Amino acid sequence: MAVPPTQPLVLTFEDARRVVEDHASLLSPRGNELVDLLHSAGRILAEPLTADRDIPPFPRSTRDGYAVRSADLAQLPATLTVMGEIKAGPPPGKIPSPLNRGEAFSIMTGAPVPQGADAVVMIEYTSLQGDRVEITKEIAPGENIVAQGAEAKEGSLLLDRGTRLNESAVALAASVGKWRLQVFVRPRVAVLTTGDEIVDVDAEIGPTQIRNSNSYSLAVQIQQAGGEPVLLPIAPDEPRKLHQLIAQGLQSDLLLMTGGVSMGRYDLVEQVLAEMQAEFFFTGAKIQPGRPVVFGRVPCAGALAHKYFFGLPGNPVSTMVTFELFARPMLEALAGVSARPLAFLHARLKSEIRVKPGLKRFLPAILSGQYEESQVELVAWQGSGDIAARSRSNCLIVIPPDREHILAGEWIAVMPR
Ligand code: AMP
Ligand code: MG
Repeated sequence: MAVPPTQPLVLTFEDARRVVEDHASLLSPRGNELVDLLHSAGRILAEPLTADRDIPPFPRSTRDGYAVRSADLAQLPATLTVMGEIKAGPPPGKIPSPLNRGEAFSIMTGAPVPQGADAVVMIEYTSLQGDRVEITKEIAPGENIVAQGAEAKEGSLLLDRGTRLNESAVALAASVGKWRLQVFVRPRVAVLTTGDEIVDVDAEIGPTQIRNSNSYSLAVQIQQAGGEPVLLPIAPDEPRKLHQLIAQGLQSDLLLMTGGVSMGRYDLVEQVLAEMQAEFFFTGAKIQPGRPVVFGRVPCAGALAHKYFFGLPGNPVSTMVTFELFARPMLEALAGVSARPLAFLHARLKSEIRVKPGLKRFLPAILSGQYEESQVELVAWQGSGDIAARSRSNCLIVIPPDREHILAGEWIAVMPR
Protein backbone atom coordinates (compact mmCIF):
# COMPACT_ATOMS: atom_id res chain seq x y z
CA MET A 1 0.00 0.00 0.00
CA ALA A 2 1.24 3.46 -0.85
CA VAL A 3 2.58 5.91 1.69
CA PRO A 4 -0.22 8.47 2.31
CA PRO A 5 0.38 12.09 1.32
CA THR A 6 1.40 14.57 3.99
CA GLN A 7 -1.23 16.66 5.82
CA PRO A 8 -3.00 19.19 3.60
CA LEU A 9 -1.01 22.41 3.55
CA VAL A 10 -3.15 25.18 2.12
CA LEU A 11 -1.53 28.63 1.99
CA THR A 12 -2.80 32.07 1.09
CA PHE A 13 -1.82 33.18 -2.39
CA GLU A 14 0.86 35.53 -1.09
CA ASP A 15 2.40 32.91 1.21
CA ALA A 16 2.41 30.29 -1.54
CA ARG A 17 3.97 32.74 -3.96
CA ARG A 18 6.65 33.66 -1.38
CA VAL A 19 7.49 29.98 -0.86
CA VAL A 20 7.95 29.58 -4.62
CA GLU A 21 10.06 32.73 -4.89
CA ASP A 22 12.26 31.58 -1.99
CA HIS A 23 12.95 28.26 -3.72
CA ALA A 24 13.40 29.98 -7.08
CA SER A 25 16.17 32.08 -5.53
CA LEU A 26 18.13 28.85 -4.88
CA LEU A 27 18.15 27.88 -8.56
CA SER A 28 20.57 28.74 -11.31
CA PRO A 29 20.65 28.14 -15.06
CA ARG A 30 22.47 25.21 -16.66
CA GLY A 31 24.99 27.03 -18.82
CA ASN A 32 25.46 29.39 -21.73
CA GLU A 33 25.33 29.27 -25.49
CA LEU A 34 26.14 31.77 -28.22
CA VAL A 35 23.30 33.00 -30.45
CA ASP A 36 23.15 35.42 -33.35
CA LEU A 37 21.50 38.71 -32.52
CA LEU A 38 18.71 38.01 -35.00
CA HIS A 39 17.84 34.80 -33.15
CA SER A 40 18.09 36.20 -29.65
CA ALA A 41 14.53 37.47 -29.19
CA GLY A 42 13.14 36.35 -25.84
CA ARG A 43 16.43 34.71 -24.79
CA ILE A 44 18.05 35.56 -21.46
CA LEU A 45 21.35 37.46 -21.51
CA ALA A 46 24.16 35.47 -19.88
CA GLU A 47 26.87 38.14 -20.16
CA PRO A 48 26.87 41.77 -19.07
CA LEU A 49 26.46 44.16 -21.99
CA THR A 50 28.81 47.14 -21.79
CA ALA A 51 29.32 50.26 -23.89
CA ASP A 52 32.21 49.79 -26.36
CA ARG A 53 32.55 53.59 -26.62
CA ASP A 54 30.85 56.68 -25.25
CA ILE A 55 27.17 56.92 -26.24
CA PRO A 56 26.76 59.15 -28.11
CA PRO A 57 30.37 59.00 -29.32
CA PHE A 58 30.35 62.75 -30.09
CA PRO A 59 28.12 65.68 -29.07
CA ARG A 60 25.08 64.92 -31.24
CA SER A 61 22.71 67.42 -32.76
CA THR A 62 19.09 66.42 -32.21
CA ARG A 63 17.75 68.90 -34.79
CA ASP A 64 18.24 70.21 -38.28
CA GLY A 65 19.37 73.83 -37.88
CA TYR A 66 22.45 75.83 -37.00
CA ALA A 67 25.20 75.03 -34.53
CA VAL A 68 25.91 78.27 -32.66
CA ARG A 69 27.58 79.78 -29.61
CA SER A 70 24.61 80.66 -27.38
CA ALA A 71 26.46 83.77 -26.15
CA ASP A 72 26.27 85.17 -29.72
CA LEU A 73 22.47 85.26 -29.41
CA ALA A 74 22.26 87.59 -26.41
CA GLN A 75 20.80 90.33 -28.68
CA LEU A 76 18.00 89.26 -31.04
CA PRO A 77 17.67 89.08 -33.93
CA ALA A 78 21.29 88.06 -34.37
CA THR A 79 23.05 87.54 -37.69
CA LEU A 80 25.85 84.96 -37.94
CA THR A 81 28.17 83.91 -40.77
CA VAL A 82 27.55 80.38 -42.02
CA MET A 83 30.93 78.65 -42.28
CA GLY A 84 29.70 75.45 -43.94
CA GLU A 85 27.48 72.42 -43.55
CA ILE A 86 27.81 69.36 -41.28
CA LYS A 87 25.80 66.31 -42.19
CA ALA A 88 25.45 63.07 -40.22
CA GLY A 89 28.49 60.82 -40.52
CA PRO A 90 31.11 63.19 -41.96
CA PRO A 91 34.41 61.46 -42.80
CA PRO A 92 37.00 62.00 -40.04
CA GLY A 93 38.97 64.58 -42.07
CA LYS A 94 35.81 66.58 -42.77
CA ILE A 95 34.83 67.48 -39.19
CA PRO A 96 34.91 71.27 -39.27
CA SER A 97 37.30 73.44 -37.37
CA PRO A 98 36.14 75.12 -34.14
CA LEU A 99 33.42 77.72 -34.29
CA ASN A 100 34.51 81.29 -33.54
CA ARG A 101 32.47 84.28 -32.38
CA GLY A 102 29.82 85.38 -34.84
CA GLU A 103 29.92 82.08 -36.75
CA ALA A 104 27.47 79.24 -37.31
CA PHE A 105 27.43 75.90 -39.10
CA SER A 106 24.40 74.52 -40.87
CA ILE A 107 23.90 71.13 -39.15
CA MET A 108 21.70 68.05 -39.61
CA THR A 109 20.06 65.78 -37.05
CA GLY A 110 22.55 63.16 -35.87
CA ALA A 111 25.61 65.16 -36.98
CA PRO A 112 28.55 65.95 -34.65
CA VAL A 113 28.37 69.44 -33.16
CA PRO A 114 31.70 71.25 -33.83
CA GLN A 115 33.97 72.47 -31.06
CA GLY A 116 33.07 75.91 -29.83
CA ALA A 117 29.34 75.49 -30.52
CA ASP A 118 27.18 74.90 -27.44
CA ALA A 119 23.66 74.87 -28.90
CA VAL A 120 21.70 74.10 -32.06
CA VAL A 121 18.99 76.51 -33.21
CA MET A 122 16.14 74.79 -35.05
CA ILE A 123 15.90 75.74 -38.70
CA GLU A 124 12.35 76.99 -38.07
CA TYR A 125 13.73 80.01 -36.14
CA THR A 126 16.23 81.09 -38.79
CA SER A 127 16.34 82.68 -42.23
CA LEU A 128 19.28 82.29 -44.56
CA GLN A 129 20.46 84.97 -46.97
CA GLY A 130 23.63 84.10 -48.88
CA ASP A 131 26.16 83.04 -46.24
CA ARG A 132 24.40 84.98 -43.46
CA VAL A 133 21.77 83.47 -41.18
CA GLU A 134 19.40 85.55 -39.08
CA ILE A 135 18.24 83.97 -35.81
CA THR A 136 15.10 85.19 -34.07
CA LYS A 137 14.88 82.95 -31.00
CA GLU A 138 16.97 82.91 -27.86
CA ILE A 139 18.66 79.65 -26.89
CA ALA A 140 20.12 78.15 -23.72
CA PRO A 141 23.55 76.46 -23.67
CA GLY A 142 23.21 72.74 -24.40
CA GLU A 143 19.86 73.04 -26.17
CA ASN A 144 19.30 70.41 -28.92
CA ILE A 145 22.63 68.71 -28.19
CA VAL A 146 23.19 65.39 -26.43
CA ALA A 147 26.67 65.63 -24.89
CA GLN A 148 29.27 62.94 -25.67
CA GLY A 149 28.80 60.02 -23.25
CA ALA A 150 25.58 61.46 -21.79
CA GLU A 151 23.66 58.22 -22.43
CA ALA A 152 26.53 55.93 -21.35
CA LYS A 153 30.26 56.19 -20.76
CA GLU A 154 32.65 53.81 -22.50
CA GLY A 155 32.92 50.58 -20.48
CA SER A 156 29.81 51.23 -18.37
CA LEU A 157 27.18 48.53 -17.79
CA LEU A 158 24.19 48.76 -20.12
CA LEU A 159 22.35 45.50 -19.39
CA ASP A 160 23.04 42.93 -16.72
CA ARG A 161 22.97 39.15 -17.01
CA GLY A 162 19.45 37.89 -16.54
CA THR A 163 17.82 40.43 -18.86
CA ARG A 164 15.23 39.06 -21.25
CA LEU A 165 16.11 40.26 -24.74
CA ASN A 166 13.33 42.37 -26.17
CA GLU A 167 13.54 44.79 -29.08
CA SER A 168 15.22 47.58 -27.11
CA ALA A 169 17.78 45.24 -25.52
CA VAL A 170 18.58 43.83 -28.97
CA ALA A 171 18.84 47.37 -30.38
CA LEU A 172 21.24 48.26 -27.57
CA ALA A 173 23.36 45.17 -28.31
CA ALA A 174 23.44 46.11 -31.99
CA SER A 175 24.43 49.67 -31.11
CA VAL A 176 27.54 48.43 -29.27
CA GLY A 177 28.55 46.07 -32.07
CA LYS A 178 27.48 42.76 -30.49
CA TRP A 179 26.28 40.60 -33.36
CA ARG A 180 26.34 37.45 -31.22
CA LEU A 181 25.35 37.16 -27.60
CA GLN A 182 25.92 34.71 -24.78
CA VAL A 183 22.51 33.58 -23.54
CA PHE A 184 21.48 30.98 -20.98
CA VAL A 185 20.58 27.48 -22.13
CA ARG A 186 16.82 26.92 -22.01
CA PRO A 187 15.76 24.68 -19.12
CA ARG A 188 13.97 21.48 -20.05
CA VAL A 189 10.53 21.33 -18.48
CA ALA A 190 8.72 17.99 -18.46
CA VAL A 191 4.94 18.04 -18.89
CA LEU A 192 3.01 15.06 -17.57
CA THR A 193 -0.73 15.09 -17.94
CA THR A 194 -2.74 12.54 -15.97
CA GLY A 195 -6.23 11.08 -16.17
CA ASP A 196 -7.87 7.93 -17.50
CA GLU A 197 -10.28 10.05 -19.54
CA ILE A 198 -7.56 12.05 -21.30
CA VAL A 199 -6.56 11.10 -24.85
CA ASP A 200 -4.09 12.46 -27.40
CA VAL A 201 -5.29 15.22 -29.72
CA ASP A 202 -4.98 13.04 -32.82
CA ALA A 203 -6.54 9.88 -31.32
CA GLU A 204 -9.94 8.42 -32.10
CA ILE A 205 -12.13 9.76 -29.30
CA GLY A 206 -14.92 8.10 -27.29
CA PRO A 207 -18.03 10.00 -26.13
CA THR A 208 -16.83 10.48 -22.55
CA GLN A 209 -13.19 11.05 -23.31
CA ILE A 210 -11.46 14.43 -23.18
CA ARG A 211 -8.67 15.56 -25.50
CA ASN A 212 -5.43 16.58 -23.86
CA SER A 213 -5.28 20.35 -24.09
CA ASN A 214 -3.20 21.05 -20.98
CA SER A 215 0.05 19.73 -22.43
CA TYR A 216 -0.37 22.16 -25.30
CA SER A 217 -1.23 25.24 -23.25
CA LEU A 218 1.68 24.46 -20.95
CA ALA A 219 4.03 23.99 -23.89
CA VAL A 220 3.16 27.50 -25.04
CA GLN A 221 3.59 29.01 -21.58
CA ILE A 222 6.89 27.17 -21.05
CA GLN A 223 8.26 28.44 -24.35
CA GLN A 224 7.12 31.98 -23.65
CA ALA A 225 8.76 31.88 -20.23
CA GLY A 226 12.05 30.72 -21.77
CA GLY A 227 11.92 26.94 -21.34
CA GLU A 228 11.90 23.93 -23.64
CA PRO A 229 8.84 21.70 -23.12
CA VAL A 230 9.33 17.93 -22.99
CA LEU A 231 5.93 16.29 -23.44
CA LEU A 232 5.57 12.89 -21.77
CA PRO A 233 2.91 10.30 -22.62
CA ILE A 234 -0.45 10.73 -20.88
CA ALA A 235 -0.42 8.96 -17.51
CA PRO A 236 -3.40 6.84 -16.49
CA ASP A 237 -4.82 7.07 -12.96
CA GLU A 238 -2.83 4.00 -11.98
CA PRO A 239 0.03 4.24 -9.46
CA ARG A 240 2.66 2.05 -11.16
CA LYS A 241 2.51 3.69 -14.55
CA LEU A 242 2.20 7.11 -12.91
CA HIS A 243 5.29 6.39 -10.81
CA GLN A 244 7.26 5.39 -13.87
CA LEU A 245 6.28 8.52 -15.82
CA ILE A 246 6.94 10.85 -12.88
CA ALA A 247 10.41 9.30 -12.55
CA GLN A 248 10.94 9.99 -16.24
CA GLY A 249 9.71 13.57 -15.81
CA LEU A 250 12.12 14.16 -12.94
CA GLN A 251 15.01 13.77 -15.38
CA SER A 252 14.17 17.20 -16.78
CA ASP A 253 15.06 20.41 -14.92
CA LEU A 254 11.48 20.92 -13.71
CA LEU A 255 8.40 18.69 -13.75
CA LEU A 256 4.91 20.03 -14.33
CA MET A 257 2.05 17.62 -13.85
CA THR A 258 -1.58 18.37 -14.56
CA GLY A 259 -4.60 16.67 -13.08
CA GLY A 260 -4.86 14.15 -10.30
CA VAL A 261 -4.25 16.58 -7.43
CA SER A 262 -7.87 17.11 -6.27
CA MET A 263 -9.64 15.16 -3.53
CA GLY A 264 -11.07 12.42 -5.77
CA ARG A 265 -10.38 8.70 -5.22
CA TYR A 266 -8.32 8.55 -8.38
CA ASP A 267 -6.29 11.67 -7.71
CA LEU A 268 -3.07 9.77 -7.14
CA VAL A 269 -0.32 12.24 -7.95
CA GLU A 270 0.43 13.28 -4.37
CA GLN A 271 0.35 9.69 -3.16
CA VAL A 272 2.85 8.57 -5.78
CA LEU A 273 5.10 11.54 -5.07
CA ALA A 274 4.96 10.77 -1.34
CA GLU A 275 6.19 7.26 -2.14
CA MET A 276 9.12 8.88 -3.88
CA GLN A 277 10.03 10.72 -0.62
CA ALA A 278 8.73 14.03 -1.94
CA GLU A 279 8.83 17.08 0.29
CA PHE A 280 5.63 19.12 -0.11
CA PHE A 281 5.77 22.90 0.40
CA PHE A 282 2.06 23.35 -0.21
CA THR A 283 -0.77 21.15 -1.38
CA GLY A 284 -3.27 23.93 -1.96
CA ALA A 285 -3.60 27.71 -2.22
CA LYS A 286 -6.55 29.90 -1.30
CA ILE A 287 -7.18 30.93 -4.89
CA GLN A 288 -9.73 30.45 -7.62
CA PRO A 289 -9.14 28.92 -10.08
CA GLY A 290 -6.41 26.50 -9.05
CA ARG A 291 -7.06 25.73 -5.38
CA PRO A 292 -5.55 22.19 -5.36
CA VAL A 293 -2.14 23.34 -6.71
CA VAL A 294 0.82 21.38 -5.30
CA PHE A 295 4.46 22.40 -5.03
CA GLY A 296 7.35 20.30 -3.80
CA ARG A 297 10.60 18.56 -4.58
CA VAL A 298 11.95 15.04 -4.76
CA PRO A 299 15.46 14.12 -3.60
CA CYS A 300 17.63 12.88 -6.45
CA ALA A 301 21.18 11.79 -7.18
CA GLY A 302 23.47 14.01 -9.23
CA ALA A 303 24.61 17.61 -9.21
CA LEU A 304 21.23 18.85 -8.01
CA ALA A 305 20.16 17.42 -4.68
CA HIS A 306 16.47 17.88 -5.58
CA LYS A 307 14.16 18.19 -8.52
CA TYR A 308 11.19 20.50 -8.15
CA PHE A 309 7.70 19.67 -9.31
CA PHE A 310 4.29 21.28 -9.54
CA GLY A 311 1.05 19.38 -9.49
CA LEU A 312 -1.23 21.75 -11.37
CA PRO A 313 -4.97 21.15 -11.20
CA GLY A 314 -6.31 19.47 -14.34
CA ASN A 315 -9.07 21.92 -15.18
CA PRO A 316 -7.61 23.71 -18.19
CA VAL A 317 -8.04 27.28 -16.95
CA SER A 318 -6.67 26.30 -13.53
CA THR A 319 -3.65 24.78 -15.26
CA MET A 320 -2.96 27.98 -17.20
CA VAL A 321 -3.49 30.30 -14.24
CA THR A 322 -1.45 28.28 -11.75
CA PHE A 323 1.39 28.07 -14.25
CA GLU A 324 1.48 31.87 -14.42
CA LEU A 325 1.20 32.37 -10.67
CA PHE A 326 3.57 29.68 -9.41
CA ALA A 327 5.44 27.67 -12.06
CA ARG A 328 6.65 30.68 -14.04
CA PRO A 329 9.00 32.08 -11.35
CA MET A 330 10.68 28.66 -10.93
CA LEU A 331 11.05 28.22 -14.67
CA GLU A 332 12.38 31.76 -15.07
CA ALA A 333 14.95 31.17 -12.32
CA LEU A 334 16.16 28.03 -14.16
CA ALA A 335 16.24 30.08 -17.36
CA GLY A 336 18.46 32.69 -15.66
CA VAL A 337 15.91 35.51 -15.59
CA SER A 338 16.56 38.03 -12.80
CA ALA A 339 13.85 37.71 -10.15
CA ARG A 340 11.15 40.35 -10.23
CA PRO A 341 8.04 40.80 -8.15
CA LEU A 342 4.66 40.04 -9.68
CA ALA A 343 3.05 43.41 -10.40
CA PHE A 344 -0.56 43.99 -11.42
CA LEU A 345 -1.93 46.74 -13.63
CA HIS A 346 -5.11 48.60 -12.77
CA ALA A 347 -8.21 49.39 -14.78
CA ARG A 348 -11.70 50.66 -14.01
CA LEU A 349 -14.32 48.00 -13.48
CA LYS A 350 -17.10 48.21 -16.07
CA SER A 351 -19.80 46.30 -14.23
CA GLU A 352 -20.04 45.31 -10.58
CA ILE A 353 -18.74 42.00 -9.23
CA ARG A 354 -20.17 39.95 -6.37
CA VAL A 355 -18.19 36.97 -5.08
CA LYS A 356 -17.91 34.97 -1.87
CA PRO A 357 -14.93 36.15 0.20
CA GLY A 358 -12.08 33.88 1.30
CA LEU A 359 -10.19 33.19 -1.91
CA LYS A 360 -8.01 35.39 -4.04
CA ARG A 361 -9.55 35.16 -7.48
CA PHE A 362 -7.96 35.45 -10.90
CA LEU A 363 -10.96 35.54 -13.20
CA PRO A 364 -11.00 35.76 -17.00
CA ALA A 365 -11.91 39.26 -18.11
CA ILE A 366 -11.86 41.60 -21.07
CA LEU A 367 -9.89 44.81 -21.04
CA SER A 368 -11.57 47.18 -23.49
CA GLY A 369 -12.10 50.88 -24.13
CA GLN A 370 -9.48 53.11 -25.65
CA TYR A 371 -6.47 55.13 -24.58
CA GLU A 372 -6.90 56.48 -21.03
CA GLU A 373 -10.50 55.20 -20.91
CA SER A 374 -9.64 51.51 -20.51
CA GLN A 375 -12.21 49.39 -18.71
CA VAL A 376 -12.33 45.81 -17.57
CA GLU A 377 -15.17 43.36 -17.04
CA LEU A 378 -15.54 39.66 -16.30
CA VAL A 379 -16.43 37.30 -19.12
CA ALA A 380 -19.29 34.91 -18.49
CA TRP A 381 -17.81 31.48 -17.86
CA GLN A 382 -18.75 28.01 -16.71
CA GLY A 383 -15.85 27.73 -14.30
CA SER A 384 -12.27 26.58 -14.53
CA GLY A 385 -12.91 24.04 -17.29
CA ASP A 386 -14.13 26.71 -19.71
CA ILE A 387 -11.28 27.15 -22.19
CA ALA A 388 -13.59 28.92 -24.65
CA ALA A 389 -14.35 31.69 -22.13
CA ARG A 390 -10.67 32.00 -21.28
CA SER A 391 -9.90 32.34 -24.99
CA ARG A 392 -12.40 35.18 -25.29
CA SER A 393 -10.73 36.96 -22.38
CA ASN A 394 -7.54 38.97 -22.67
CA CYS A 395 -6.64 39.36 -19.00
CA LEU A 396 -7.44 38.18 -15.51
CA ILE A 397 -9.16 40.37 -12.93
CA VAL A 398 -7.55 39.96 -9.52
CA ILE A 399 -10.03 40.03 -6.62
CA PRO A 400 -8.61 40.16 -3.08
CA PRO A 401 -10.02 37.57 -0.64
CA ASP A 402 -11.68 40.19 1.56
CA ARG A 403 -13.85 41.71 -1.19
CA GLU A 404 -17.45 40.57 -1.71
CA HIS A 405 -18.88 43.39 -3.74
CA ILE A 406 -16.86 45.57 -6.08
CA LEU A 407 -18.69 48.47 -7.65
CA ALA A 408 -18.63 49.54 -11.27
CA GLY A 409 -16.15 52.39 -11.68
CA GLU A 410 -13.75 51.13 -8.98
CA TRP A 411 -10.11 50.62 -9.89
CA ILE A 412 -9.28 46.94 -9.92
CA ALA A 413 -6.08 44.93 -10.34
CA VAL A 414 -5.56 43.15 -13.64
CA MET A 415 -3.04 40.61 -14.92
CA PRO A 416 -2.70 41.27 -18.64
CA ARG A 417 -2.68 37.75 -20.12
P1 AMP B 1 -8.45 16.53 -12.22
O1 AMP B 1 -7.59 17.67 -11.76
O2 AMP B 1 -7.67 15.33 -12.64
O3 AMP B 1 -9.52 16.22 -11.21
O4 AMP B 1 -9.20 17.04 -13.51
C1 AMP B 1 -10.07 18.14 -13.46
C2 AMP B 1 -10.76 18.33 -14.77
O5 AMP B 1 -9.81 18.71 -15.76
C3 AMP B 1 -11.47 17.10 -15.31
O6 AMP B 1 -12.67 17.50 -15.90
C4 AMP B 1 -10.48 16.59 -16.35
O7 AMP B 1 -11.10 15.83 -17.35
C5 AMP B 1 -9.89 17.84 -16.90
N1 AMP B 1 -8.56 17.62 -17.41
C6 AMP B 1 -7.56 17.02 -16.74
N2 AMP B 1 -6.46 16.93 -17.50
C7 AMP B 1 -6.76 17.52 -18.68
C8 AMP B 1 -6.03 17.74 -19.88
N3 AMP B 1 -4.76 17.36 -20.00
N4 AMP B 1 -6.64 18.39 -20.88
C9 AMP B 1 -7.91 18.78 -20.76
N5 AMP B 1 -8.65 18.59 -19.66
C10 AMP B 1 -8.10 17.96 -18.62
MG1 MG C 1 -7.99 13.43 -13.16
